[in-house]
Amino acid sequence: SAEFDVERIRADFPILSIEVEGKPLVYLDNAASSQMPQQVIDRLVHYQTAQHANINRAVHYLSEVATDEYEKARHKIQQFVNAREQREIIFTSGTTDSINLVMHGYGRRFIQAGDEIILTTLEHHSNIVPWQMLAKEKGAVIRVVPINDAGELDIDAYEKLFNERTKFVGLIHVSNALGTINPVKQMIDYAHQHNVPVLIDGAQAAPHIPIDVQALDCDFYAFSAHKLCGPTGVGMLYGKASLLEAMQPFKGGGDMIASVTFEKTTYADIPHKFEAGTPPIAAVIGFGAAVDYLCSIGMDQIAAHETKLLHYATERINAIKGARILGTAAEKTAVISFVLDGVHPHDIGTILSQDGIAVRTGHHCAQPVMQRYNVPATSRASFAFYNDLSEVDVLIEGIQNVQKIFL
Ligand code: PMP
Repeated sequence: SAEFDVERIRADFPILSIEVEGKPLVYLDNAASSQMPQQVIDRLVHYQTAQHANINRAVHYLSEVATDEYEKARHKIQQFVNAREQREIIFTSGTTDSINLVMHGYGRRFIQAGDEIILTTLEHHSNIVPWQMLAKEKGAVIRVVPINDAGELDIDAYEKLFNERTKFVGLIHVSNALGTINPVKQMIDYAHQHNVPVLIDGAQAAPHIPIDVQALDCDFYAFSAHKLCGPTGVGMLYGKASLLEAMQPFKGGGDMIASVTFEKTTYADIPHKFEAGTPPIAAVIGFGAAVDYLCSIGMDQIAAHETKLLHYATERINAIKGARILGTAAEKTAVISFVLDGVHPHDIGTILSQDGIAVRTGHHCAQPVMQRYNVPATSRASFAFYNDLSEVDVLIEGIQNVQKIFL
């Protein structure tokens, strides 16, 4: 693709030119949610203006157009993650919903009392809580992979957790709290040697690095559209067709059935078996447009630019006396979680906001990570491909300003 030009890219995002407190917005909360380019906004407007009807139900013109556009989006997502088949892509309301679908559809059917589920210290709460609910219901046991001080998983410890009771692995691809990129391919291969399926939470990976579910050979992969320039309210679950077919549906209702009588219902084939009710049609189509947009830039180019931002920001924050970065893994995306001596993260976030800078402060829905580092919270600057080096400079000035106020 063409040369990466961050100024040209920034022009695609109308929200990046707003002002906050009279200062230009510096948006560094991309791990929570990313912004939407005009191309995706236009696609949503076009859908609502000229293509909207309910899908799968009627032979009238608009319903056929909407159904067609909805399935085209599924095809775009299939290509984006290199799934073998389109029917292996299920639309959900987001990563959380995707993981809950696997818990109900796979976990409740195949995990029994005494079985073990392996998770990691780095998991987001959305890949912890559903499995705890299942463990409680079934009498199953959760085992946790520890991390080292750099925020990297202890792979030896992971391998030692396996035994004949191990039935499932839930694994975050990229940590939302620290940015660590986990060696998921190696970990999936190891689980498969023990015939254990692996679900990858890709919420923080899909927006930043190329994803190939066939190369990974993962059994399930989940992410949300709103973290990759798409709308909220929609996400995806990839599952291997054979597994999806063996699973029970999570939600019952219209559009997921083959036939219904009061005696018996037979379910539709995948993916429709898992898409009960009217889906967020506009959001799904916007999701497809967002993937088109990312692909027009190129995931490799995105990753390369974000790595530059990461290195520059890391170097500059490390040079600030009293600042400490949590998460110094060799393989990282552009997420910087930091603490400042003598200042509560909440105050850092509030003061930075007065300078127009958006960072997230808190536990980042990853309390076990905070517990591991013995901090209640951090400040997190998380970058996207539309951020530039001058925004790192603004962040550094902002942090220095915080220190002036407090020290
Ligand atoms: N997993 C990870 C790693 C995340 O960062 C997030 C979002 N913070 C989620 C899951 C949940 O995503 P959503 O809220 O879109 O369902």
